[in-house]
Amino acid sequence: MRLSRYFMPILKENPKEAEIVSHRLMLRAGMIRQQSQGIYSWLPLGKRVLDKVNGIIREEQNRAGAIELSMPTLQSAELWQESGRYDAYGKEMLRIKDRQERPMLYGPTNEEMVTDIFRSSVKSYKDLPLNLYHIQLKFRDEIRPRFGTMRSREFMMKDAYSFDLTREGAEHSYNKMFAAYLRTFDRLGLRAIPMRADTGPIGGNLSHEFIILADTGESEVFCHKDFVGFDIPDERTDFDSVEGLQAIFDKWTSLYAATSEMHDEAAFNAVPEGERLSARGIEVGHIFYFGTKYSEPMGAKVQGPDGKEHFVHMGSYGIGPTRLVPAIIEASHDDNGIIWPASVAPFDVVVINMKAGDQACDDTCELIYAALTKAGKDVLYDDTDDRAGTKFATADLIGVPVQIIAGPRAVANGEVEVKDRKTGARETMTIEAAINRFVA
Ligand code: ATP
Ligand code: MG
Repeated sequence: MRLSRYFMPILKENPKEAEIVSHRLMLRAGMIRQQSQGIYSWLPLGKRVLDKVNGIIREEQNRAGAIELSMPTLQSAELWQESGRYDAYGKEMLRIKDRQERPMLYGPTNEEMVTDIFRSSVKSYKDLPLNLYHIQLKFRDEIRPRFGTMRSREFMMKDAYSFDLTREGAEHSYNKMFAAYLRTFDRLGLRAIPMRADTGPIGGNLSHEFIILADTGESEVFCHKDFVGFDIPDERTDFDSVEGLQAIFDKWTSLYAATSEMHDEAAFNAVPEGERLSARGIEVGHIFYFGTKYSEPMGAKVQGPDGKEHFVHMGSYGIGPTRLVPAIIEASHDDNGIIWPASVAPFDVVVINMKAGDQACDDTCELIYAALTKAGKDVLYDDTDDRAGTKFATADLIGVPVQIIAGPRAVANGEVEVKDRKTGARETMTIEAAINRFVA
């Protein structure tokens, strides 16, 4: 991508409305724009990051055996009347009428709809277990939307829903998502700790929130320090192994970890003082087992091996991609801007032409740009005629992991500078060596 032809509206000044660093940096880097309270456009740079986050979420959901579909944002109120949540949900639900005066709503979550899809076609235990997910916008009319896309009214959610014949089966399905979440957040460059959670209006009795420690987090959390160093289930994890996944779950729930709603002071105090961590955190994911809470009122049942009909046991599993992007920034930035983990960076590398219009600089940059693009890298080429200082500041602000800097003096020697955004380390090397770092 040539910056001269891109759309990346950088702000020079710090926006006054932004209270936390991620919100400030997302606005300054031209990633998002507020359209009305708590409702955002994702501008091209932000959209790239969001897509990468969703790509990782999708890969890990698929690896764990979940199957992607797509459900609509607008739902009929009838379904929610069946479950009893149409009246229970309260003011957070945006209710709408269509031209026939039929009550509709903008989905805050999808348990009812997915249960309807399930009951319409699954009739036998032989078709279980089943886990269906989508990555879709949700709307919740939050009282206090704030911190940019961290807490917005319209936001994106990956929501998965599992269906099993028995409680034991549902626990295995739960453990699959538990392990998938550990892997997902790790690949996003985050350390998320599963904490026992309240089940809230969704109900049920087995639930964990995945929390990232951050000073700006809205939740107060208490946990054992050792979680910070626990091993993440690796790529070879067998998601079909009931014992293997139970072992992962048992290990990751063996020590104290709870949000303030579930906090047990006495149990926490039993942890040796030096091993206690009491901090603030951001909830980035939440998983629930809720048994037959929806399948019973909505009549979602299958025939079991005994020939009888059984209401299915369900769970739901949410991750907030539009909250994760600012959460990653909260965890990874410095005074100059964002520092993206390579896995979600909007571009892999930015090529900075320090003197656009200078033949040697232009030729060198074009060569590198073409070679890296051909190698399948996402390259941003700063070919604008801005001052070098402005270009450096922009590259640092948008947080691309590697900068290749081509200035007249180095280029005359057949060299460029390669800068690591995170460490700030700069290295002068031949043009060929710079290319090979990415192509190899
Ligand atoms: P919170 O306690 O932060 O209000 P919640 O418990 O109501 O969230 P869930 O129903 O558990 O949210 O939703 C699953 C995930 O969706 C959350 O873990 C979070 O990542 C994301 N999410 C929920 N509400 C919002 C929001 N208003 N803005 C952005 N992301 C959200
Ligand atoms: Mg939650």
